[in-house]
Amino acid sequence: MKVIEHIKQAKDTLISFEVLPPLKGKGIKGIYDNLDPLMEFKPAFINVTYHRSESMFKKKPDGTFEKVEVRKRPGTVGICAAIKFRYKVDAVAHLICGGFNRQETEDALIDLNFLGIDNVLVLRGDAPKNESSFEPEPGGHRYAIELLHQVVNMNNGIYLEDDLKTTVKTDFCIGVAGYPEKHFEAPNMQTDLAYLKAKVEAGADYVVTQMFFDNKKYFDFVATCRNAGINVPIIPGLKPITSRRQLTVLPRTFHVDIPEDLSSEILKCKQDCEVEEIGTQWLLQQSKELKAAGVPVVHYYTLGKPHVIANVVKELV
Ligand SMILES: Cc1cc2nc3c(=O)[nH]c(=O)nc-3n(C[C@H](O)[C@H](O)[C@H](O)COP(=O)(O)OP(=O)(O)OC[C@H]3O[C@@H](n4cnc5c(N)ncnc54)[C@H](O)[C@@H]3O)c2cc1C
Repeated sequence: MKVIEHIKQAKDTLISFEVLPPLKGKGIKGIYDNLDPLMEFKPAFINVTYHRSESMFKKKPDGTFEKVEVRKRPGTVGICAAIKFRYKVDAVAHLICGGFNRQETEDALIDLNFLGIDNVLVLRGDAPKNESSFEPEPGGHRYAIELLHQVVNMNNGIYLEDDLKTTVKTDFCIGVAGYPEKHFEAPNMQTDLAYLKAKVEAGADYVVTQMFFDNKKYFDFVATCRNAGINVPIIPGLKPITSRRQLTVLPRTFHVDIPEDLSSEILKCKQDCEVEEIGTQWLLQQSKELKAAGVPVVHYYTLGKPHVIANVVKELV
């Protein structure tokens, strides 16, 4: 079932989870270990992130170095299929522009369609860690909206080879990303919202937000979106803070603020187990308030912390 159908049919706030593919060389057991303890909460859907390859320098036997492309976390499409098969729950495959050309994207969409996975979250992706700005792959997309056009085209039976006859129309439900604290490259919120609106007008069915730690940012964002004429569901994305290190890593990586009330409590902690307790309580309060406000779904970035998410969700359902 599509995410948008889950939302339309729901009588209460739904729960969803997000997982990362394991590092190459590791098995799928890590995903199951993460998800098994969460399945009792009956998530409406589970997202699986997508990761671009990165350039690395590998030492050759003669002592010189060669540049190689390594995808550290492959397997998104396969994991989506495994989730559907094992848990009978809908999977949402993330698709990114970075590192992919249109042909590779089309192949992934065909695989998803054949597997009966009809939910995608279309994203641009970030620049590789060693590059300062995002550059599309030759023959790839520069912005998420271009990737969205490709998915919408396939939903209309338009494939890259335009001479194909009597093609099958795919039926993807399409989500896009939104940023309550603004995307870090956007010059201002208004411009960022104009591009978000363009994604919705081009066919996005719903928005999932970047993580935030202050619900007011989400509520303000939703109000601004509604004023701007963005009327699709806006799903809040939440993540627990479980270590002191995250106080600097999260703002640096995701360009989000951590409220002073939360950071000051965390700074008093001597060990990360104390931070985890504070992070769990904070996440629970955020979740309760969002649910009370009637948000369609609370989406949890689980990232290897299933017990924290379980402790929160069991107080919520
Ligand atoms: C819910 C969620 C899930 C994510 N999952 C993944 C994942 O699985 N894998 C991954 O690699 N990354 C993921 N990301 C990170 C995401 O790829 C980055 O935040 C990326 O920098 C932007 O992606 P986007 O889809 O928002 O890009 P876009 O919508 O393309 O926007 C990127 C920037 O360009 C601007 N812009 C948009 N359209 C135009 C235009 N037509 N002309 C000029 N400027 C424009 C926007 O204002 C913004 O500043 C996720 C982010 C979120 C919020």
